[in-house]
Amino acid sequence: MLIKKKHKSINKKKKMFVIRLGLFLGIIVISTTCICKARQTSEMNKLQAKKADTVKKQHIVKMQKEKEIQALVAKQLELNKKKNTFSGPPGEFAPWKTKRTDGRKVAYLTFDDGPSVNTTAILKILNDNSIKATFFLVGTNAERNSSLVKKEFNEGHVVGNHTYSHSISYREGTENFLSDVGRCNEVLKSILGPQYNVKLMRFPGGYLGHGNRLVPYSDALITAGYTYVDWNDETGDAEGYNPTVPVLMGNLKKYTATDSVVVLMHDTEVKTNTVQALPQVIQYLKDNGYSFDTIH
Ligand SMILES: [Zn+2]
Repeated sequence: MLIKKKHKSINKKKKMFVIRLGLFLGIIVISTTCICKARQTSEMNKLQAKKADTVKKQHIVKMQKEKEIQALVAKQLELNKKKNTFSGPPGEFAPWKTKRTDGRKVAYLTFDDGPSVNTTAILKILNDNSIKATFFLVGTNAERNSSLVKKEFNEGHVVGNHTYSHSISYREGTENFLSDVGRCNEVLKSILGPQYNVKLMRFPGGYLGHGNRLVPYSDALITAGYTYVDWNDETGDAEGYNPTVPVLMGNLKKYTATDSVVVLMHDTEVKTNTVQALPQVIQYLKDNGYSFDTIH
């Protein structure tokens, strides 16, 4: 009986051991599974966070790029606005501003500051080539050389206004400026007669070169019924005393770039190389498909 009881007790202990072992193993399995799952979740979270971080970084880069593009566009618009402010006043005659729609290439030869001792030679070269040009005369020079003014006009060239004194500093105010322009106009009228009614002028030193500060002057000019024109091509004969022909031709080749070119040259006593270069200037423009016209 005692043995039987002892045996039962051993069996019970064994059962308990098996149950405990089972429980223990169960807990280990569950724990391991939980840890694995937790690790997996953590890994997934890390991956997702990494992915989110990458997306965020990409978004920041994209936004930065967009900002940069917007800044560039704004800058360009501002530049264009400035450009238009410079070259856009109504009444300004700027044939190079828009591309020609007639498919032609036209060169407008212009001579500033005359008349001078070189005028006759310039007119002969133009006549030999059947070309009409535009002369922007200084009033004081016109007074001294009235026969040359008549010769230019009678041979079909356009005689424009380059102020009376050419000593404009653009600090004397618009009234004095207009009075100087008006005085030149009176001189030209007195030489050419009442039929002379060209109200085309060129600012001494050009208009665009002075930036925005000439806006009141151009406004006054336009109100008084004038138009004005700069240039977009030149031989550079004003850069230095009397640049050599190769230098002048080099500049012309460099600056002849659009299908309408307004070529700046000077008709003054010292610019003898301008006269020497003129046949080559004309030939170069002809070879490049340009015909010639006056600004009117
Ligand atoms: Zn000038």
